[in-house]
Amino acid sequence: MLESVMKAWWDSSHMAGGNAAYIEELYEAYLDDPKSVSEQWREIFDQLPKVNGVELESKHSEIREQFRAMAQMGPMSRVSAAPAGSSASDLKQVKVLQLINAYRFRGHQHANLDPLGLWKQERVRDLEPSHHELNESDFDTIFNVGSYAIGQETMPLGELFKSLNRTYCGSVGAEYMHITNTEQKRWLQQRFESVQAQPTLSRDTKVGILKGLVAADGMEKYLGSKFPGAKRFSLEGGDALIPMLKNLISHAGSNGAKEVVVGMAHRGRLNVLVNVLGKNPSVLFDEFAGKHDESLGSGDVKYHAGYSSDFATPGGNVHLAMAFNPSHLEIVNPVVIGSVRARLDRRDCKDGSAVLPVTIHGDAAIAGQGVVQETFNMSQTRGFAVGGTVRIVINNQVGFTTSKIEDARSTQYCTDIAKMVQAPIFHVNADDPEAVIFVTNLAIDYRNTFKRDVVIDLVCYRRHGHNEADEPSVTQPLMYKKVKKHPVARQLYADQLMAEGIIEKHEVEKLVSDYRAALDHGACVVDEWRPMTEHSVDWSPFIGHDWDTEYDGALSLDKLKELGERICHFPEEFALNSRVKKLYQDRAAMIAGDKKLDWGCAELLAYASIVDRGSRIRICGQDSGRGTFFHRHAVLHNQEDGQTYMPLQHVSDEQGPIEIYDSVLSEEAVMAFEYGYSTAEPGCLTVWEAQFGDFSNGAQVVIDQFLSSGEHKWGRLCGLTLLLPHGYEGQGPEHSSARLERFLQLCADHNWQICVPSTPAQVYNMLRRQMVRPMRRPLIVMSPKSLLRHAQATSSLEELAEGQFKNVIGEIDDMDAKKVKRVVMCSGKVFYDLLDQRRKNEQDDVAIIRIEQLYPFPHDEIAEVLKPYQHVKDWVWCQEEPQNQGAWYCSQHHFYAAIPQGTKLTYAGRSASASPAVGYVSLHNQQQKALVEDALSIKK
Ligand code: AMP
Repeated sequence: MLESVMKAWWDSSHMAGGNAAYIEELYEAYLDDPKSVSEQWREIFDQLPKVNGVELESKHSEIREQFRAMAQMGPMSRVSAAPAGSSASDLKQVKVLQLINAYRFRGHQHANLDPLGLWKQERVRDLEPSHHELNESDFDTIFNVGSYAIGQETMPLGELFKSLNRTYCGSVGAEYMHITNTEQKRWLQQRFESVQAQPTLSRDTKVGILKGLVAADGMEKYLGSKFPGAKRFSLEGGDALIPMLKNLISHAGSNGAKEVVVGMAHRGRLNVLVNVLGKNPSVLFDEFAGKHDESLGSGDVKYHAGYSSDFATPGGNVHLAMAFNPSHLEIVNPVVIGSVRARLDRRDCKDGSAVLPVTIHGDAAIAGQGVVQETFNMSQTRGFAVGGTVRIVINNQVGFTTSKIEDARSTQYCTDIAKMVQAPIFHVNADDPEAVIFVTNLAIDYRNTFKRDVVIDLVCYRRHGHNEADEPSVTQPLMYKKVKKHPVARQLYADQLMAEGIIEKHEVEKLVSDYRAALDHGACVVDEWRPMTEHSVDWSPFIGHDWDTEYDGALSLDKLKELGERICHFPEEFALNSRVKKLYQDRAAMIAGDKKLDWGCAELLAYASIVDRGSRIRICGQDSGRGTFFHRHAVLHNQEDGQTYMPLQHVSDEQGPIEIYDSVLSEEAVMAFEYGYSTAEPGCLTVWEAQFGDFSNGAQVVIDQFLSSGEHKWGRLCGLTLLLPHGYEGQGPEHSSARLERFLQLCADHNWQICVPSTPAQVYNMLRRQMVRPMRRPLIVMSPKSLLRHAQATSSLEELAEGQFKNVIGEIDDMDAKKVKRVVMCSGKVFYDLLDQRRKNEQDDVAIIRIEQLYPFPHDEIAEVLKPYQHVKDWVWCQEEPQNQGAWYCSQHHFYAAIPQGTKLTYAGRSASASPAVGYVSLHNQQQKALVEDALSIKK
């Protein structure tokens, strides 16, 4: 509507053909203060169309957008920028405003960002007054500065030009004009322009910065001399990170943050651990010397280690947590953000103010790794938002040996990906630590004000190779010629402070020698370090428990019925879709005992019982509210107004919270987020659900690097549950297998549980066990598809009430064990195919046993179930998956251990195949029939 009104106005106006960018700038000034533009312009803007005769007050941003759109439509003649009859001074005034605009848009391209001075900056003509037909003779003329937030309405052009250069072309390059929200843009302009991007710092702050640089440099020099040649991925070149982080925590703490969670890769990590988090240097030195904590399983290299401490700030102590990190770059970021979300939820903090995520990136990685995009995309969504993340790039201008922009990325800056969420980006020269502090405070304030992501691109260099044993001159000869001669940041800043008369040479020398002495002494070197207090959750109830820990999962039938009634209840006036209504009616009949329970009903009862005991639940997946296969319907959608209702949120007044989110279409970042969430919150049943099980391979790095090995490497417990739909139903290669074999291959040290529940009672008890038992280990579930509605896959309320997940289920038909000549073992859906066929065959010589937990393998339970069959010589493992997949190869040793010695175990299943499943339904049916027959037919 507005678009067509504006277009009509534009076409009929004498402004058509004018330069909309100039006019937009004037319009901005007019909005600020109508008197700031000439009367002629004021008259024009006063005529701006009203939408439906309504005041346009709330539509100004749209008008601005229209100016932009029209600028692209019409000719962009700068000479016709003003209405006919404008005076020469009006014309100049327009050009002055255009100059201001140009600096806001492109000043960063002339900023002094590279400490090595190697960047070849392209000439940006828009930043030259002559480009705007202004010249030195205009420098004394006083112009209105429009919305330029310098604190005065007018200025001589010469002064304005200097001020613009100071603000936008100094040590900070600000990119924010891609933000469409005017309030945010104005806010940033105010913060930059009012102080010309120059902070006023107290003497103490300056000395504090110097101390940080002394520590950063001192630490690396110390490690370099004590452990020459040892890999430490030194921070040198990016030394400003240390005062920057300390300042960031302090500023965040002063503004309400109670916790800061940091994720970073290896570069500079040891330095941050010691100089910011206060890790005891002697512990680090011991690690260099090869000593390690015996209590940690297999351990990890020291530059992957996490750490926790408290840090004193003017606003009180802030808890710091550095996340453990694998070598796979950028993957820790969604983990950190998930951990932050858990901490915020625990504090019931909805706006993100209490916990700050800080992610530290490499320049090559932030541009190169796709998970960065996924994480940005999640940043403002309901299920994943944390009120903004402060993202810092340690931009050392080289990725291992790849330095040239033409090899490393396709954009000028490594940070362009952040523009997808319109995050402001502050490029800053790391050799100007005061500018670094300026943008750091700005970033925190922006994040706190607008609850959005913000990026600091700390442009630095790397003094050594990728690691200290590397020779960087081989691949970066020119850069390293420069690096070798380049003074360290500590020296540069000390010189500056000495020149300013803030500190004497001997005081600087004392700072350096005191720091070295502190390292020699081996005690904590961070003044603000404090021992951890109650900020963190207590993990001790979950430590030392294994999967065979006893627990009481039983609930009375009455309680189950009461919960069942709650999950079937929704407001009377709530208009349900007819299919969903029928499903809810069926559920009510199940709870009333008129029908046996199906999968969806039992699963929801599990959730209801968990929130009823006060625990939290978070379920996330691409279709989790409804369920990919239309079975769950935990979130109801009113057919009349689109409102949603979740019966599980109305189980009782004292219940725990439950959140179910349909997630962004990502596996990697989302699973990593959920991993982070569950490693920070043992009191939550955290569930990630794949749309189809095999899509979890998009998150393989999370499975390999975190889920399967995190406890063993880092001692970090995690109770994340993965629901991975799995089953051979003729849907083709991509929708049949959750790649069970991959999970089984990663099993060792009781690292996780792999379950294939086959009944509603089993899914109910499996989910409850995951919360009720005080063990927190990942649960990988091959969850069903066709069983969700299978006539025989039903359970009674009594079976649910028993309260124990059966790791093994014995023969269910009333058979004489003595007649059994063969025992078929299997997992999952194929059981029903086998059962059905055996009943059709009226066979009584084959028993069918279900193994519902494939890992940890339930040796004792299976021994109990197999007792009646010790005479049997013929044993079969039956699976739907091809022979090289499924459980056959990975679990065979367990099957052999379960059957009597000297007996034969054979395989009944599909032949080995490169593809998980065939694409043709007819072939699928043929294979399925054959494998069932093969399992049941005893050769005479
Ligand atoms: P954090 O809040 O992450 O700094 O954690 C504080 C302390 O809680 C850590 O130092 C650990 O002792 C413990 N902790 C945190 N997360 C876990 C976990 N996932 N598993 C076991 N212990 C943990």
